[in-house]
Amino acid sequence: MSRFFSEKYKNLEPYTPGEQPKDNQYVKLNTNESPFPPTPTAVQYIAQASKSLQLYSDPECRELVEIASKRFGVNKDEIIFTNGSDEVLNFAFMAFCDKNTPAIFPDITYGFYSVFAQINNIPYREIELNEDFTICVDDYKNVKGTVFIANPNAPTGIALTIKEIEEIVRSNPDNIVVIDEAYVDFGAESVVQLTKKYDNLLVTQTFSKSRSLAGGRLGFGIGNKALIQDLNTIKYSTNPYNVNSLTMAAGIGTLIDDSYSMENCQKIIETREMTALKLKELGFTMTDSSANFIFAKHDVVNGKDIYLKLKEKGVLVRHFDKEKLRDYNRITVGSDYQMQILIDKLKEVLEELQ
Ligand code: PMP
Repeated sequence: MSRFFSEKYKNLEPYTPGEQPKDNQYVKLNTNESPFPPTPTAVQYIAQASKSLQLYSDPECRELVEIASKRFGVNKDEIIFTNGSDEVLNFAFMAFCDKNTPAIFPDITYGFYSVFAQINNIPYREIELNEDFTICVDDYKNVKGTVFIANPNAPTGIALTIKEIEEIVRSNPDNIVVIDEAYVDFGAESVVQLTKKYDNLLVTQTFSKSRSLAGGRLGFGIGNKALIQDLNTIKYSTNPYNVNSLTMAAGIGTLIDDSYSMENCQKIIETREMTALKLKELGFTMTDSSANFIFAKHDVVNGKDIYLKLKEKGVLVRHFDKEKLRDYNRITVGSDYQMQILIDKLKEVLEELQ
């Protein structure tokens, strides 16, 4: 830390992203990226857009908003695009929390929520999950604060139903409820349509997982027009050109060919189920994941040892040191080929460690 670093940030603990190693050819199952490349339509659109990079990008993302509003069945003023969904989540912390309106989220969830709260000087309360990693819906009813729930949750993959989320939203008419649907396309139910009924619901999604654009950085929020206006106030006060022209073009091309992405999601779901069966045969237990990852622990061998040994053998999964998560590893569902390598290497690892 330099001696010039602001007092405000002295104690900030930044989010630790998953490793992106360049030194080795890993089977990379640690950051929930898609094993499939972007649709060729996206690539074509990017190439076209690259010819006009001397111009600023459209701050209103009009063409993208037009096609996305049709795809998601909402009005054009009910959607905002951002630089990854991390940005819309940060905007939501900035817009809808303050010292009298704390952020409220599960103790086990996306690790960035507490960082967004800290950097914005927002108090936050973490609510414990049940023993089996499920969210206790009643804990989020009538709370005094802004609720953030990842659905499916991370890193557990466990999803709430629309009915359960509606109960939470209905019971908090004077607070905002943010539902982070980063992984929704892998088998959970989206609550986007509930934004028409409730003015306190904001839904966020990303093109990083189900739409193969993690490197493009494109996310969005959907909610009532007034909420989106608030988020735009934050956006135009920080970075009006938050979505660059290439990413915008990629997003348009991706939505034009959306069946490509949705078919890939089906493949990932099938691969997830098949991999879960194989992991069970090897002595793993796992949560019921509706996401593009499996959260698994071995009945005998320790999670960190499995992670380290797999890494030595060229397979990268995500291990968290937090006490309640230590026994587990979060394994991204890749292609069938990648998952076969995972299973083969796991067999070796288990033989060596048992
Ligand atoms: N929400 C959750 C639950 C996530 O796991 C992630 C990805 N790390 C994000 C949001 C943010 O993803 P992105 O910024 O790539 O859209």
